[in-house]
Order: sequence, then C-alpha cells, then structure tokens
Amino acid sequence: MRKQIVAGNWKMNNDLSQTEALITSLKGQTKTSNAEVMVAPTATNLWQANKSLMGTDIEVIAQNMHFAESGAYTGEISASMLKSIGINTVILGHSERREYFNETDELLAKKVDAALANDMRVIFCFGEELADRKAGNEETVVGNQIKNALFHLEAEAFKNIVLAYEPVWAIGTGETASPEQAQDMHAFIRKTLADKYGDAVANSVSVLYGGSVKPANANEIFSKPDVDGGLIGGASLNAEDFYAIVNAF
Ligand code: PGA
Repeated sequence: MRKQIVAGNWKMNNDLSQTEALITSLKGQTKTSNAEVMVAPTATNLWQANKSLMGTDIEVIAQNMHFAESGAYTGEISASMLKSIGINTVILGHSERREYFNETDELLAKKVDAALANDMRVIFCFGEELADRKAGNEETVVGNQIKNALFHLEAEAFKNIVLAYEPVWAIGTGETASPEQAQDMHAFIRKTLADKYGDAVANSVSVLYGGSVKPANANEIFSKPDVDGGLIGGASLNAEDFYAIVNAF
C-alpha cells in the first residue's frame, strides 16, 4: 500500500506569532484518515514549529534548500542545517521556485542528490503550464521534468521520494484540474516510472496532486486510484479547511 500524504505548503505566509496561532489550531483538529500530515512553514519558523509540533503526528518540512553542503552561498540553507534542527523532508522544484528563482531541472537534480545524501525525504514537484496543456504537450513536459531531475537515481532512492504533480495553471488560481485530468496524468507519471524502474517501484511511490485543492473538491480528487494525496497551498493556512482535506480520503 502506498502512503497517503497531505502536505500544507505555507509558502511566504505567517510570521512567528501567526505560525504559532495556526499550529495551536492544528492541534485542535482530529484526524480520521490514515494520511501522513506535513506542514511547511517558512524557513525562519521551522525551528519553532518543529518544537511546537513535537509529539504530534504532524511533520514539519522545509519548502526549499540549497544543493551545497556549506560555503559561500549568501542567504541559502543546506540539507545538513535542516537536519540539524530536526527537519527530515524538503519540498523541491515547486513551480514558484522554477518561475521566480530560475530553478532548472539540472539544478533540481543536484538538490535532490544533496537531500538524499543527507537522508532526507524529497517531495519533488513538477507540472505543465497552461500553454503546454493547450498545445497538448503536458505529458512531454511532465515526463521530461521527471526524467531530467530524477532518472539518474537508483531505484532504491525512490523510497525517499514523493512526487507532486502541480499543473501551474491550477496553482492559486481557483482552477483545479478535473479529477479525471489528475488521474490521467498520475497514471502517466506512474507509467513513466514503471518504464524505467519497473512496476514495483512505480507502484510504491506516492504521487500527490496540487493546485487549488479545497475541502469541496479533495474527496473527488483523492478517490482516484493513482492520486495518493495532496500538496495544499492556500487552503492549508486554515486549520479546519486543512483537516477537512486531510480527512477527505
Ligand atoms: P494552492 O497551491 O493550493 O494555493 O493552489 C498549491 C501549491 O502551490 O502547492
């Protein structure tokens, strides 16, 4: 059985006191599904969030990291620094990182390697833009994003990789891929993995959907056979909404 996962990506929202307030609300929620729950606060609040959520079943994860171990990279944070404060999972390749910070497949391959070398779990994000979908190129784009950043890895590495399909046109837009569009792409992603690594690996990797997931649409999306959960942006900033999604399996 693949793990079901719901991860909240808080992006650049919430200062320290807002983070603590949201965590207090999260602690008041009840989980009725088997999903693993994760939240990704901004870097300045990782340490405090991790302390505040200690002993709960909510994992605190990072939104990004640098590929280098240390050195002259002003403003950056390494995998070992995250590990040293108890952070064991990192989101890599989010479309906002690709778009605003010029993260390429090549750079992301290095970040993935650095995370895995530090025994971290990676939530690897990818997804096509609207123009790609309009041109019917979504599978080519997604296939290449996966191949370019991940296909240098050994099969073994996929134990520590979660995939997150996030069509760029559905992120923060209120526009969701239909459950059928999500399922079709998730099946394609699994086939892409199977062609390279075999069915056992393909069937063991959790593939999350992200892009305007809300309490109202989560159940229909999560009920698709190849959708193993979600990466949630906007709706993860409200504890009730987030747990409605966590419990939507
Ligand atoms: P959204 O963001 O849920 O606000 O669309 C999803 C994401 O960027 O991970």
